[in-house]
Amino acid sequence: MFDHLAKLAHVPGGRWTLAGAAGLCLVAAALSHGAAAAGPSVTKVRFGGTQAETRIVIELDRATVGRLETGPDADQRIILTLADLQVAGDLQGSGQGLVKAWMMDQAGGAARLRLDLVGPASIKRRFLLPPSEGSTAYRYVVDIVANASVPAFAPVVSAKPVTVTPVSVTLPAPVLSTPAPAVRAEPVVVQKATSTPRPYVAPLRLKKVIVIDAGHGGHDPGAKGSETNEKDINLAAALSLKERLDRSGRYKVILTRDTDVFIPLENRVQVARHANADLFISLHSDSGANSQTRGASVYTLSDKGSDRAARNALEKNNWFYDVNLPAQDKAVKQILLDLTQRATKNRSATFAQLLLARIDEHVQLLARSHRDAGFVVLLAPDVPAVLLEMGFITNVDDEALLAERESRQDFMDSVGDSIDAYFDEELRIASR
Ligand SMILES: [Zn+2]
Repeated sequence: MFDHLAKLAHVPGGRWTLAGAAGLCLVAAALSHGAAAAGPSVTKVRFGGTQAETRIVIELDRATVGRLETGPDADQRIILTLADLQVAGDLQGSGQGLVKAWMMDQAGGAARLRLDLVGPASIKRRFLLPPSEGSTAYRYVVDIVANASVPAFAPVVSAKPVTVTPVSVTLPAPVLSTPAPAVRAEPVVVQKATSTPRPYVAPLRLKKVIVIDAGHGGHDPGAKGSETNEKDINLAAALSLKERLDRSGRYKVILTRDTDVFIPLENRVQVARHANADLFISLHSDSGANSQTRGASVYTLSDKGSDRAARNALEKNNWFYDVNLPAQDKAVKQILLDLTQRATKNRSATFAQLLLARIDEHVQLLARSHRDAGFVVLLAPDVPAVLLEMGFITNVDDEALLAERESRQDFMDSVGDSIDAYFDEELRIASR
């Protein structure tokens, strides 16, 4: 990573200005979750630079030939295909500099990269770099420059605040380095102004990122039913929900765990933050002293933690975070500040209502089915989050419903329906 950072600072011609540390805020949306080592030939897409000049680096496991599908002077979108490459599903993200959003997918035998631009730009150069300096990756590099003679179109306000993972970089002392040799130099296109009216190009619709968190795992079994452990029920449900969401093709689904392993609570929150998730849903199974008690319930974050007395079972597992206690840790205090972000809480509450409405047709609900609570896993600011208690595994009927594949899939399909409804609603509001 640092090798690449250093390299990006040394672009021929010295045009690669570092406008303060922010100029090199190199955050790649490299969410190649689940990519198998033997599978995809495109491993990562990275960005560097500013709104004047932006570099896109595509990491590959082999050489390729690039072809521009759009003209050299791009207005709103650049489309580049790279021959004979396999793409792992769902490479996408918000960009940097001149790139507003990007998506890479399979187009026939080629990998297709689409870049949505913040304003008119021209391809300055593109070339393939062979592996070097301990790296086994080929890199296809594209440099684009802003076309200043045409006014940029109005910035599009994103419905979701974009979280940028800060990367701290220690810049090396200035060194006159020779650039790595380009094995395939392609023609440099001279930018030219255009005054013809620009046709509207619908913005790339990135897949919504959903993080599904199967509660407990490994040495933490969670609640115990007569025949099942909560951790296993939760994982099975998470996989069922993922299957439903994958089927729709609308989502990029990330699981905090997909096997029986222990994942610390903070890590679960971090997964959601790093993935720039649009929605976080934590799946749990309830337990109670009274075996008659049954029903599902949904929690969203509260800054009061008023329900904690009723949540003793969870408190023992430390899943419950007592937000009334004075926080000793500065990081925790920061989180407490963040969690007051009303917008996120409102969106969580909106989703909770949609969720309850949909699952109501499939499972019983507790009398007070929507609650506020201070669960640690709900603490990621900017990510709407709910915790779904799917039912009581201490009740035989609820346990059977959750343990049987078919009824569990029905249940999770309805959770999927509520996720569809939530994003349909968001789209409707955004397009008003
Ligand atoms: Zn639990």
